[in-house]
Amino acid sequence: MKCPYCGYGKTKVIDSRAAEEHTAIRRRRHCANCGSRFTTFERRERAGVAVLKRDGTREPYDREKLSVGFYKACSKREVPEPVIEKSVDRIEEEIMKRPEREITASELGDMVMDELRQIDEIAYLRFASVYKRFDDVSEFQRELGELIPEQGDTGEGPAPGGVDERSGK
Ligand SMILES: [Zn+2]
Repeated sequence: MKCPYCGYGKTKVIDSRAAEEHTAIRRRRHCANCGSRFTTFERRERAGVAVLKRDGTREPYDREKLSVGFYKACSKREVPEPVIEKSVDRIEEEIMKRPEREITASELGDMVMDELRQIDEIAYLRFASVYKRFDDVSEFQRELGELIPEQGDTGEGPAPGGVDERSGK
């Protein structure tokens, strides 16, 4: 499991326990490279929800990918992990409620932005500036002056639920 903060490939499980009334396993991991700690959950696969990408292809909804988008946006922002996991939970619940069992990548991206806006302004801006790409970046800069931190330090954008927003318009 890659470290969500620095991308280092070898992280160590330091604790492992049942969670969510034994429907999940919660693991605490430690990154030997940057010292960060983070949590992963192993869950039953939730069948049948697809993310519809801009290029018209579909891929299965993946909580892990959604979380990575959050963790990247919140990197070094001292956002408590339970706050992030709660946001991901809320989005996931919303998705699972949909009768059509499908969500577009842009709807998912908007949901992430709504959550991040309430969590942390910088995280929100980071995500928004990458996710919205160039169309709206100048708008954001106007709106927020010099608040925009360095972005794209890993060369990768956030990945909400398998969104690859860079690939198509
Ligand atoms: Zn790390």
